[in-house]
Amino acid sequence: MNDDCIFCKIIKGEIPSYTIYENDEVKAFLDINPVTNGHCVIVPKSHIKDMEGMNQQINSKIEEAALSIYKIYKEKLNLDGLTRIQNNGYGQEVKHYHMHLIPRYENDNIYTNRCPENLIPVEEVFNKVK
Ligand code: AMP
Ligand code: ZN
Repeated sequence: MNDDCIFCKIIKGEIPSYTIYENDEVKAFLDINPVTNGHCVIVPKSHIKDMEGMNQQINSKIEEAALSIYKIYKEKLNLDGLTRIQNNGYGQEVKHYHMHLIPRYENDNIYTNRCPENLIPVEEVFNKVK
């Protein structure tokens, strides 16, 4: 547990949350600033900062949670798809590992900025990382 971490406070019950799934190792709650209806985050109960601190056991619990939530959402929210995002470093506001589940609805237009013009060619990226 980390005293300065907002997600640790949610896990301890010091800050309220709309918890939709929970077991000994993970918890999932609705995001307070949702991108679409049903946007939630799944977090390990132990304070792990990002993907470098993760292990297989917790990863599999997060996958289990994601699948359960996906099934419930399909039934109850009438979604058309589900996008998962997990930020590390830049773009990560809360430094406690979390997987975003973002329900997708036809024409939700949440990715309107695909392929911006300032990107380097795909071949160049391939040559750097292969
Ligand atoms: P990230 O930018 O990947 O670190 O995402 C952090 C997410 O946590 C954001 O989508 C926030 O809206 C969400 N968030 C921050 N505080 C809370 C809270 N108290 N309850 C639920 N979600 C939160
Ligand atoms: Zn934490």
